[in-house]
This record gives sequence, C-alpha cells and structure tokens, in this order.
Amino acid sequence: MDTQRIHPYENRAVLKEYYAKYLKDVRKVKDSTVKHYFDALSYISRYLKEKNLLKRDIYEVMDLQELASLREILYKDPDFMAFNKQGHQMYSAGLNNYFRFASGEFIEQENVDAKEMDMPLEKTGFNDTPEKPSLSYIATSKHWKRSSILRRQTLAFAHYTCELHPEHKTFLAQSTHKPYMEGHHIIPMVMQPSFDHSLDVYANLICLCPICHRQIHLGLKEERKDMLKEIYEQREERFEKSGLTLTENEFVELGLR
Ligand SMILES: [Zn+2]
Ligand SMILES: [Zn+2]
Repeated sequence: MDTQRIHPYENRAVLKEYYAKYLKDVRKVKDSTVKHYFDALSYISRYLKEKNLLKRDIYEVMDLQELASLREILYKDPDFMAFNKQGHQMYSAGLNNYFRFASGEFIEQENVDAKEMDMPLEKTGFNDTPEKPSLSYIATSKHWKRSSILRRQTLAFAHYTCELHPEHKTFLAQSTHKPYMEGHHIIPMVMQPSFDHSLDVYANLICLCPICHRQIHLGLKEERKDMLKEIYEQREERFEKSGLTLTENEFVELGLR
C-alpha cells in the first residue's frame, strides 16, 4: 500500500533538488561542503518555522521577494546574528549562496545551460487519494502552485530571448534591466494529476516574448499546433530526462488544452 499520505504541496522540494544538483554537478562542490550548506539551511528553516514564518522549510518559498524578506528578518534578528557569529557566518553564507541560486544570478555568472539541470524530481504524490478529502484537495487550477523563482531562472537560462523566435524584440523591464519576457508552462499545470512527476520544472518552462506567449494560449489552433511541434522537437529529451515521457501527439494534445 502506498504510504504517502501527504498534502501534495508538502511533498515537493523542487528547488532543493535543483540546488543540490547545481552544487554537485555544476559547481562541483565537495560533498562535505554541500552538507554544510544544507545543514545551514535546515537550521534556518527550523528557526523560521519556530517563528511561524515557514510551514515546513525554506524550499517551500516560491517567490524571490519573499525569500529576500525572510533573509532581512534574519539579519535584523540579534539572536540569529549572535548564533551566526558563533558559527563563523556559516548560516548567512549558506543562505546567501542559496539566494544567489534562487535569483538565477548563477546562470549568467557561471554560464549554466538549462539542459545540465534536468533530472526526474521526486514523485509529486499528486495522485494519492487523501484519507479525508477536504476542499483543499479539489484539483482546481488555482491549487497548482507554481514557483516564480523557477520562472525567473527560466528567463535567465534563455538569456532573455524568445525561445520560439529569438529575433523577437521587447523592451527592458525595470525589475531586471533585461528584455521583458514571460515564462510559460508548456504542459499546463492543470494537467498535473495525470503525471507522477512535477510539471513545475525547468524542462516544462519556456521563455517566450509576450506576443508568442499570447499566441500559444489564444492563437489559431493550427498555428498553436505548429508552435507545440517545434517545442517538442527542441525539448523531447529534456522532458524524458525529467520523467515526463510523451509522444509528439500526446504532447501536442496536452499543450492545446
Ligand atoms: Zn502561459
Ligand atoms: Zn516571440
């Protein structure tokens, strides 16, 4: 019998797994250092949980602004700062390093290709039937939370160019001083119940200019099909590596929803 009876959101730590992969495979950090970073973040998670600022741990934070506020709270907290000093700044170093990862800064600085980061993330457990179904389990689209941190990283991976038409120009966004682009979930998040693995992953996120983005949602069906076929060609391997195996037809059908 399946023992996973966890609320879907509680069963995900997408960013944690990507962060581990980044440290080990991209930065090639020693195992002992990886452990230090993760220990620091678990301490910070416990500290913030005690203050009711987190439900489970730091990886549940899906928004960079929110992560920045939590960091600010910690750095203004005398108890935390005293503890951090005793620990030779290990906690703040761990948090800053994670923040640098979440912000997507590392992508440009270390010239990381999104393909290096693909992997099957833990099964979501989304298909498990909760023992006592409650309203919060009803699968409406608004319940499929998505990470704005992953979206932000997606734009950085694409170097802020439209992945369907790199020649499409937009304008500079105030928040990033980079060309304005949008992140799109190729397989719509509402389809999550049909998949064992998370759809909120790098492989399923694409950077599009606002025109292509609107078109893939609202354009003529035939033209949307062509866009999806092109994406499938570009992404087939990445989907497979992320545990999302689909034929072209299945993929186009899902994308048209
Ligand atoms: Zn979209
Ligand atoms: Zn475009």
